[in-house]
Amino acid sequence: MRKFSLFILFFLISQISFGWGAHFLVTDKALDTPELKGFLDMQTKSEPIELFLFAQKKPLVALFDGYYQWLQTTPSKRFLVGHFSENDPTLLGFLKAARLNPKATFPLLRRRFPSEKPLRNPILLNVISPHEKIDPYFTQEFENAQGRQMTMREILTTFSDEPDWTIDYALWDIPEYGYGTKPYGKTNEPWSGAAFHMQFSHENFIIRTLAPTVQDGMAQDRIELFLRLSRLAFSTQHPYWGARFAAHAIHYMQDLSQPYHAKAVPFANFNYYLKFAFSADKEKYIRDTTQLVSNRHLLFEDFIRGYMEKQDLVQTQESKNLIQALSSGKPMISKISKRETSENLFKEVSERSVEIAWKLDNAVATVYGPRMTGDPTYDFDSDTQYSAGAVYSKSAVELEALVKVAMTPLTTAGEATRTLLEMCRSAP
Ligand SMILES: [Zn+2]
Repeated sequence: MRKFSLFILFFLISQISFGWGAHFLVTDKALDTPELKGFLDMQTKSEPIELFLFAQKKPLVALFDGYYQWLQTTPSKRFLVGHFSENDPTLLGFLKAARLNPKATFPLLRRRFPSEKPLRNPILLNVISPHEKIDPYFTQEFENAQGRQMTMREILTTFSDEPDWTIDYALWDIPEYGYGTKPYGKTNEPWSGAAFHMQFSHENFIIRTLAPTVQDGMAQDRIELFLRLSRLAFSTQHPYWGARFAAHAIHYMQDLSQPYHAKAVPFANFNYYLKFAFSADKEKYIRDTTQLVSNRHLLFEDFIRGYMEKQDLVQTQESKNLIQALSSGKPMISKISKRETSENLFKEVSERSVEIAWKLDNAVATVYGPRMTGDPTYDFDSDTQYSAGAVYSKSAVELEALVKVAMTPLTTAGEATRTLLEMCRSAP
């Protein structure tokens, strides 16, 4: 058993952590409700983080103390208590207290939307986030926003992808953070922060026994931290950082609403475990499983992302339905108290994701077919022939089942985004 558990540690859930592929588009559509329009159009000047940290050095000491007290009441075990010092209100002091990548910066940027003209001197995504690939099918351009006025909408959308850029990278070699060794993720990506973007809280005892660290995701820790930071910023007249930290909290919550981020092996049923039990080569069985889940996960992200990107340019009935799902639904917590932590919302989102995971995974397999979703020798990451747009040439009937199922997690993503934003704006 030990041999397999070690093996599974390295190979299970090897996917990277982009959640919905492009959070800025999900956030934009999720916030597209008449009630939020006034707030989203509000303008504020972009503010360097150093100014916020210096101005709020006293409340930040209390904020971090409160955060680590809260963390001690949760099942999270992978942390050492951090402190923010009033005498060191610098970016590095902040990154250490928050246990984020000490090399991270928070550049002042604005992201271009697919419907806008290309920028003259764009800053490409791989300059901001060196690990990301540039794909001409998608919009990945930014411009400098130093000293500029920005709307709340621009801040919330631009930075709802920021947690994927640098802050969660290369944290496993910093002993004073207490994260321990990487619980899962690709062996060839030792810097990967996937465990901060996924949380498998609903695995059965077989998976838990085979891979005890499968439950060690830390998405909730991040959501709560950025919720608290956002509340502080909004309540102390730093709306720029109120919105930017809210965008971070929203990112992790949206990740959780993507079923592959909440369920380790969506297609694992009784039959799967039975086959595993009788399999002669269990290591291969696990390796194959991992490859299949990884492929399906990444295909699904691209599927949604393509609709989100292109609907600004070409509207189809499918894209309309998906966009509508994002802005429909009700707040997930009807009356938000000023002291409400992110725990209840997190639990609800996670449960909904797990509930739809099996059905969604089935629909992904149907649309993309056996070669890409049923053959473990196929690797999405190294498929040079793959084109994200190819799937849309299928008939509407063929795509319909997946579009229909995907509306459920997108509704959750939208509801969770708006609920969390409201929580950020209700300062304690
Ligand atoms: Zn993520």
